[in-house]
Amino acid sequence: MPAERSEPRALTIDKFRPRCMSIVPETRVVKARYPAIDAHNHFSDDMDVHRVVANMDSCNVRTYIDLSGGSGDRLKRRLELLKDNYPDRFAVFYVPDFKRVNEPDFAENVARELEEAVRAGAQGLKIYKELGLSVRAANGKLLAVDDERLDPMWQAAGELGVPVMIHVADPFAFFEPLDETNERYVQLMLHPDWHFYGKDYPPLRQLLAQRDRLLERHPKTIFIGAHIGSESEDLARAGEVLDRYPNYYVDISARQAELGRKPRNTRQFFLKYQDRILFGTDAHDHPEMYRSYFRFLETDDECFEYYMYPRHGFFHIYGIDLPDEVLWKIYVANAAKVIPGLSVPREPESAVSGRSQ
Ligand SMILES: [Zn+2]
Repeated sequence: MPAERSEPRALTIDKFRPRCMSIVPETRVVKARYPAIDAHNHFSDDMDVHRVVANMDSCNVRTYIDLSGGSGDRLKRRLELLKDNYPDRFAVFYVPDFKRVNEPDFAENVARELEEAVRAGAQGLKIYKELGLSVRAANGKLLAVDDERLDPMWQAAGELGVPVMIHVADPFAFFEPLDETNERYVQLMLHPDWHFYGKDYPPLRQLLAQRDRLLERHPKTIFIGAHIGSESEDLARAGEVLDRYPNYYVDISARQAELGRKPRNTRQFFLKYQDRILFGTDAHDHPEMYRSYFRFLETDDECFEYYMYPRHGFFHIYGIDLPDEVLWKIYVANAAKVIPGLSVPREPESAVSGRSQ
């Protein structure tokens, strides 16, 4: 009897999950090369703090930056939970409540709240992509990222010596029509609310220009552009912004797929801007998630699945095999430079020796 053959079955594209048949060496990186600072992550109330630390330990992640500290009582509770239990393992960022944006003196109040938050132990200011894409002024218009009414809060961050982690815009494809050419079609089908095309959404370039003007106007404030400043699709332009504004840094969170599909381009970018790039994940504390990032940064493995595959597209990624001294900066030194109060281990010999060559 012939072997049973399954009938070809029509699939919807969101169920398609092709496996790579190429057989290539796999390097398993269980722990980060250096005690990593995850500069872009989020803690949530359903997470167990002790489990998170155990997962971090199993991957050599030294510090977890929780960007969703919020404000008021919520921030207070978050600081107690994370910093009282593990003073050296977490940092928490304050988040202004933009629902109050049309109250008089909003930005002055945020500046004051930020100062109190920093005194209570917060280590930065986080701005979500709502600014530029959904926060509206009293006249109903979207508030521009560089609206001058917000200046007091950027200024306060600079004076307090804490960085602003700012998420402006999103992947390029989120600003394109949702048709058969959109490379993030599946992701946008699953999250239609991430599609910023049409209505009164500003075009991507306009949002990025607002962000650039903000960097220009506040040279004494350190800004970290979340997700390569939403420009991982165009690393040449991301580099130009870094060249223009010395107060600007970027994190790599949630861009492993985009970066890993063009490893040569990405490696050059990492080498050139090795003093301005921070490690981050934006994906909670799953050990296999961390290991996938380590494999991408530390090995020259080819053709493997990014974390969350195939959400960002039906392609595989390649490791960029960074040298030790660059890994040290990206995992540890750059975050330690811009985020105050992190406890940082001494630079190991392996990271120093690379630089003297
Ligand atoms: Zn995030």
